Amino acid sequence: MKYLFDYSLEELENLLVDGGYKKFSASQIFDWVYKKLTLDFDSMSNISKELREYLKKEMSLELPTITKKEVSKDTTVKYLFNFKDESKVEGVLMHHPYGTSYCISSQVGCNMGCAFCASGLKKKSRDLTSGEMVSMIIKTMLDSNERISHIVIMGTGEPLDNFDNVIKFIKIVNAPKGLEIGIRHITLSTSGLAPKIKELADKGMGINLAISLHAPTDDLRMRLMPIDKAYKINEVIDASNYYFEKTGRRITFEYLLLEGVNDSMYYADKLVELVRGMNAYINLIPYNHVDEFEFKESNSKNVDRFYNQLKSRGINVTMRHKMGDDIDAACGQLRSKIMKEEEIKK
Ligand code: SAH
Ligand code: SF4
Repeated sequence: MKYLFDYSLEELENLLVDGGYKKFSASQIFDWVYKKLTLDFDSMSNISKELREYLKKEMSLELPTITKKEVSKDTTVKYLFNFKDESKVEGVLMHHPYGTSYCISSQVGCNMGCAFCASGLKKKSRDLTSGEMVSMIIKTMLDSNERISHIVIMGTGEPLDNFDNVIKFIKIVNAPKGLEIGIRHITLSTSGLAPKIKELADKGMGINLAISLHAPTDDLRMRLMPIDKAYKINEVIDASNYYFEKTGRRITFEYLLLEGVNDSMYYADKLVELVRGMNAYINLIPYNHVDEFEFKESNSKNVDRFYNQLKSRGINVTMRHKMGDDIDAACGQLRSKIMKEEEIKK
């Protein structure tokens, strides 16, 4: 059985033409699925009976099930989905003044092993396909009865380690006949796979790029993020400059503030030296506590001091607000909690 959500419009057109059907039926199917959110071929009234029978035989529109859903006081909704092979993956729906954004996972687990991250507690068991990523969005829209206007690829997994599926996912959700989510409304966050950042730049798509820096020196970054052993900070900066030159999109560097680890004035100044002159901003991120680790969120005095130091030295700096703090909304946290509970039950 083929999975409809894996298909771009062009691919569906080709499939239909090869099967002896009309090319424009693909647009009609996309309209039912992505605009009307109708997932039952029999209800697609402008499609011929013969084609509907063919689709029912050949194509699946099955969605993952929702294993767990948590709603925060601030209206953030966190979903844990279950796929047919029992893989569990999360997605988070967030309401902002500018629209509704969705944080999507790209892999089942993550191999990058960052020292502070719940997603890295479990090794990657597999990549998600582009269709599975699309299906999570459709499931969320149906469940919440809301359209999604922005996507952040910041859930579990390293998206550039699942490059082809993630690129295809972006193309499908961006397509005018698909969900039509603007390319400038899509942000990908990476731990810094320098060669892949360049490859992404060469794709010329112009999505927003966020880079998880978290430390301005290799000595420190290596301890927090093992990926630093493969790609040093200067390679990541070089790739970021390349991305900016190619796409004209300003890079965001994410910097998690961890008490007593990376929040001193020494590191603030190192960070200034690193990014000065670049067309970039620094996004300071509050840490969501993960039980397995000893890291602590920086206290508000250190946060203010760090922020002011960057600001006074001319760096574009923003603070991310915590969302869904009461529902384990940080990267990989709900998944890791549920998996732990399941292990205890076993
Ligand atoms: N793998 C990619 C994208 C997913 S992680 C990456 O690392 O960029 C998305 C962001 O959440 C990263 O910046 C990551 O460092 C951050 N993050 C991970 N654990 C966190 C936690 N406990 N609290 C706050 N942010 C966290
Ligand atoms: Fe993976 Fe990103 Fe978590 Fe690091 S921070 S373990 S790269 S998901």
